[in-house]
Amino acid sequence: MIFSNLLAALPGENEFRKVDIQVSGGILRAIAPAGTLKQSFPEEEYFDGEGLMAFPGAIDPHVHFDEPGFTHREDFFHGTCEAARGGVTTVIDMPCTSLPPVTSMEALSGKLEIIKTKAVVDYALYGGLHGAMTQRQIEAAVQSLKEHVVGFKTYFVSGMDTFPAISPELFREAIKACADADRPLLLHAEDADVLAQFRKHPGAEPTWKDYYASRPMEAEIIACRRALELAGENSATLHVVHVGTDQAAHLLKKGGASCETCAHYLAFDETDFERLGAALKTAPPVKEPAQKALLWKSLADGTISFVTSDHAGAPDYEKFTDNPLTAYGGIPGTGTLFPYLLSEGLFAGRLSLQRFLEATCSAAAQRYGLDDRKGSLAPGKDADFVLVDPEATTHFTPEKMFSKSQISPFAGMRFAGRIAGTFVRGELVYGTSRLHTGNIPHSISKHQLSAEGTIVAAQGYGKNLQWRKK
Ligand SMILES: [Zn+2]
Repeated sequence: MIFSNLLAALPGENEFRKVDIQVSGGILRAIAPAGTLKQSFPEEEYFDGEGLMAFPGAIDPHVHFDEPGFTHREDFFHGTCEAARGGVTTVIDMPCTSLPPVTSMEALSGKLEIIKTKAVVDYALYGGLHGAMTQRQIEAAVQSLKEHVVGFKTYFVSGMDTFPAISPELFREAIKACADADRPLLLHAEDADVLAQFRKHPGAEPTWKDYYASRPMEAEIIACRRALELAGENSATLHVVHVGTDQAAHLLKKGGASCETCAHYLAFDETDFERLGAALKTAPPVKEPAQKALLWKSLADGTISFVTSDHAGAPDYEKFTDNPLTAYGGIPGTGTLFPYLLSEGLFAGRLSLQRFLEATCSAAAQRYGLDDRKGSLAPGKDADFVLVDPEATTHFTPEKMFSKSQISPFAGMRFAGRIAGTFVRGELVYGTSRLHTGNIPHSISKHQLSAEGTIVAAQGYGKNLQWRKK
């Protein structure tokens, strides 16, 4: 199959290049100047992508797809469909929001058995290390799971009964075990003592200001400093998730650790709670207004490695509790991650093309041992790519979402650019009727693609990915 005349975002280049891309057996075989590959293949294996941009499929390395155990919130079918709608071709799922949590091979096998028939994009898993485990159990979990997961997750504070927070002593053991196993340890960094100090006894009607005040920025900064101290010489193994304060990002970079931020910390701040309420509630919450520009700058210069969604949907009855303190903390963001960054990062000029590619896919592929197959448009890698119409805009409305929860703070926003199709290992997984304006190959045209977009892949098409040594 040849995809021709695409404006492609290629690794190491800061301008788009007009190319033809050859795909076979799910692998990207060749990239050549536009017009040079099409003659050698029959007409039905040729797609004219004139006017479309090609990006490597986005990687969302922080999702909670909740299966098995919490599928009233999300499951792997709906979650991966929503990922595909947003140009995400690989997700990495957290170990703590499924039951039992992924702390043993038994739990991992049980989870894989269930999700393997559901995913429509590729996926990898994290293992979990929590405070109810002993040092011996932590070491055993890391040893037994390391070949099957791309990292481990732990929490300094946790709201989950099934996945309690880790103590400083155990954290030190956990990071050592992960360093020995050559897997990153992902940390939810908020300091429990700081949170306890700020935990006021709310009045009869708690407000969004009360929620914001209950999880102050210092909690993240102090927790990151503490994590670096405890990690010591193993700081390169530490990865802090959902960083919202720029000071924490700088501390981590200086200390040799990596971090991610989330699209919601770039897009929103605490003043938006009045307008958006529970649709904006995450834990930790979005920050003071000045942080947004600082985070964009740190993302642009690489202090922050990449951006994730922290996708965590919940049904209306858990979200809209009329109490900011009890409303479910989490938003279903995997479908807005790439469109938001494309519009507000790349097209708005806040990120160079290279930093955009690192932030949306290649940096995560490297961090999680996937970059021999994923993370860039390069011959020999999986043919995971997103076709974007740069002239069109996306008016994002929640009813277009495929996730179980459709409560999003991004509702109503307009993004520059519009996804025309998402391909995983050469196969169209999600497509819109925009693809009909090309010379459509039979494999695509037999499907009825709607203007708003259609999931084309069969449930179970998505493949489980393992860490591979370079
Ligand atoms: Zn999370």
